Amino acid sequence: MAKASKTDAQSFSFKAETKQLLNILIHSLYKDPEVFLRELLSNASDALNRAHFEMLTNQNMLDSEVELNIRITADKDKGMLTIQDTGIGMTKDEIIENLGTIAQSGARNFIEAAKDKEVDIAQMIGQFGVGFYSVFMAAEWVRVTSRSHKSRAKAVSWYATGEDNFEVNAAEMDERGTKIEIKLKKDAIEFAEEYHLKTIVKKHSDYIGFPIYVGESDEQVNKQTSLWRTPRSEAKDEEYQDFYRQLTLEFEKPLLHIHAVTDAPVQLYALLYVPSKGERGMFSLRKDDGLKLYSRNILIDEYNKDLLPEYLRFVQGVVDSEDLPLNVSRETVQSVGLMPKLKKIVTGQVMRELENLANNDPEKFNTFWEEFGIYLKQGIAAEPLNTEKVQPLLRFKTNLHTESWSSLDEYIERMKVEQKEIYYIIGNDPKSVLLSPHLDYFQTQGTEVLLLTDPMDSFMLMGLQKYKDHDLKNVAQADVETPEAGEKEGEAEKIPEGEFGPLIERFKGILGERVTDVRASNRLSQSVARLVDPDDSLNPELQRVYQYLGKEYEVPKKILELNPSHTILKLLITKESDSDLQTEIIEQIYESALLVEGLHPDPSSMAPRIQKLMEMLLS
Ligand code: ADP
Ligand code: MG
Repeated sequence: MAKASKTDAQSFSFKAETKQLLNILIHSLYKDPEVFLRELLSNASDALNRAHFEMLTNQNMLDSEVELNIRITADKDKGMLTIQDTGIGMTKDEIIENLGTIAQSGARNFIEAAKDKEVDIAQMIGQFGVGFYSVFMAAEWVRVTSRSHKSRAKAVSWYATGEDNFEVNAAEMDERGTKIEIKLKKDAIEFAEEYHLKTIVKKHSDYIGFPIYVGESDEQVNKQTSLWRTPRSEAKDEEYQDFYRQLTLEFEKPLLHIHAVTDAPVQLYALLYVPSKGERGMFSLRKDDGLKLYSRNILIDEYNKDLLPEYLRFVQGVVDSEDLPLNVSRETVQSVGLMPKLKKIVTGQVMRELENLANNDPEKFNTFWEEFGIYLKQGIAAEPLNTEKVQPLLRFKTNLHTESWSSLDEYIERMKVEQKEIYYIIGNDPKSVLLSPHLDYFQTQGTEVLLLTDPMDSFMLMGLQKYKDHDLKNVAQADVETPEAGEKEGEAEKIPEGEFGPLIERFKGILGERVTDVRASNRLSQSVARLVDPDDSLNPELQRVYQYLGKEYEVPKKILELNPSHTILKLLITKESDSDLQTEIIEQIYESALLVEGLHPDPSSMAPRIQKLMEMLLS
């Protein structure tokens, strides 16, 4: 695609997506054309950061004594704007690649997002990894001249008008770095005014960690403090929001921001966010979990996972510490002895903020819980010993409070005087679990039971056997004191034992190997039967876990308990033993019990029997 011309300039064609992107940028009107300046400054700042980093490790760097800075100059008469940095620079190959041929996916995403007229997408261009091209919002043409930090690198220039091609040529340049010369469009001539430039730099670039000069003066325009290093009293809510948007490219506001500064035992700045959604947005810039780790304002690791426990991996943000060794890199940071201390502080800050939220704004906390509760539950399953602080944050629906969220502490407060254990029931969904026969007894007693209907709950229970002084107990296995026969007021009369024995035998005969036993129970009131575990069986939480993990799943053999006071059974004994009807009803009682237990392997297989039963009833 390259063809040499007389002047040794080589011409290259932009990638198809880039052409499309340029076309949009040149022909659309934007509310904030100044965005391009922010983008060029951000690139300069990146290049300076990398130069700084290079200096720490590479003695042979070109111009290692030059001040790391950015200089902006303008010539109003010529309509020219120039931005020059002393950053890392680019070689010829780099300039061709970086400014012409890569970042296609970014361009494609931008084009896609630009279709939504509601959002001012130009504001976001940098986040797509194509920020440089925003210069064509204001430029008639652009010339980039660059000299790489690599010793013996030659200067190179890049020239484009926003049409389909760009040109690359040899150039002259004394110092390391990059110079961007912009011929401003007529309607962008304001960017040749120094006072205007100063205002924009102040607005967008205070956080850039290197001095920015405007014009020939040596007065630094930017404050040169990152937002996370700005005192909390000076940072505005709007700045926190802006920073979050730049960091993540999430359009929704974060649920929470946490700005932490500590001096002892280690020096640390952190600016952390809890997003509003558990899932990353379509255009999210964050491709992975982890926090951005800076050492003295220099980025070391884009996705550091050693600063928070797994269960807080949804947290976004920046951590910056003065105490990290100067030569630390992404590869070595893990072995730095300071990291566990930083993790302790950062985790502590997040947990404290979540506790505060739970105490001071329960409604907002519930929103948090609905999005991120699953992470906390996972944490309890995976790190039972380290999650004591997480336990009070857990929220549950219960049989007595089906619509609102309750904490374990609230549950304990409402417990009956004589109650020692925290009861829970496991099920598939909040509605059907309320129909479970295991709940019968607790419902009639008005005892509160946690409804655990999320697949993660079974995993969580493996790490949560006790809360404060109270054991957690599955209602299906709970030994509860049941009133003696006849004690309950108005209790329905039971089938006499002499008649019940043969019925049990009848059940056993039909169900055979599918159950380990059939017996009477006085724990049931509304339900006709329930399945319970034999004493030596795997506990029900583990059965669930296996079921979810897709381990070979067989319907577990259980004990079928029958309710001797139930009308269905009373009528059933009046039917002719061995009749077809009796057999089908016994089968159906068993399968219904499987179903409410969430254990039925194929519920639709019941339909033919139900149809048959209807026919029998009607005939
Ligand atoms: P991004 O900054 O997200 O990578 P840009 O479109 O803004 O995307 O820039 C593209 C690339 O061009 C940068 O990644 C960088 O490699 C290179 N680049 C741009 N400006 C400079 C500069 N001033 N100095 C050195 N390299 C630069
Ligand atoms: Mg950029």
